[in-house]
Amino acid sequence: MSTHKAWVVAVANQKGGVAKTTTVGSLGSAFAEQGLSVLLVDLDPQACLTFSLGIDPESVEGSVHQVLLGEVKAADVVVPTEDGVDLLPATIELATAEQLLLMRTGREQLLKTALAPLLKRYDVIMLDCPPSLGVLTTVALTAAHGVLIPLQCETLSHRGVGQLLDTIHDVKRMTNRRLKVIGVLPTLFDGRTSHGRLVLERIGEDYGVTVWEPAIPKSVRFAEAPAAGRSILATARSSKGADAYREVAGSLLSARG
Ligand code: ADP
Ligand code: MG
Repeated sequence: MSTHKAWVVAVANQKGGVAKTTTVGSLGSAFAEQGLSVLLVDLDPQACLTFSLGIDPESVEGSVHQVLLGEVKAADVVVPTEDGVDLLPATIELATAEQLLLMRTGREQLLKTALAPLLKRYDVIMLDCPPSLGVLTTVALTAAHGVLIPLQCETLSHRGVGQLLDTIHDVKRMTNRRLKVIGVLPTLFDGRTSHGRLVLERIGEDYGVTVWEPAIPKSVRFAEAPAAGRSILATARSSKGADAYREVAGSLLSARG
């Protein structure tokens, strides 16, 4: 099922540690397992996605930083990974991009423009956003067709969702009218506590967004994957966590139509 007119999905939440990067790597691998061609874009200066896919940022020819500044073409710095997905890597240089980009007019469009030549090569392009609502998240939301919001189902962790939805609303108004909220993906879910279930039920109602199921279970298997340079779909092939991501990937594709 290869259409090669990429569906561009930003994975965003300004809170750190909610499994954005894990979700990008795992869903990306799940899409690849299903035979799709996948590009993952690391937009976090911490380069966690790049590391977690076994790529050493020190060793790459170029990164998303140079791509955003128009110094290189995205296609020239994309690298293959063992998980079967392609990666547009990040390096720590990206930390200075925020400053540099603030001086450029039309900066919101830079990623969209840079990715345009790649749309026909991939079925899915996923954008891993940093834990802030700064320029890098804005360029991702501007380049995307949809935004998926990973959310940890614990006390108060969903407080920032209103603020994120406001930012999404602004981006829709100013730079990307087609942007859709794909929904919330519950992560780090501990089904043993009734609290988690309650939070899960309330989120959809409170924010009027789709809540995807199954919730991704909390599991120590996820902690082992990044060190191996592979996603959990490879390191714990038949675990509940891997299967949850596979199921969500399938549902996302069906819903996309
Ligand atoms: P973010 O990108 O939002 O900052 P990460 O994907 O880096 O979040 O995840 C934060 C930490 O939580 C990482 O150490 C990761 O391995 C761990 N983690 C992610 N998902 C799970 C899960 N379902 N169960 C247990 N640990 C997880
Ligand atoms: Mg991250």
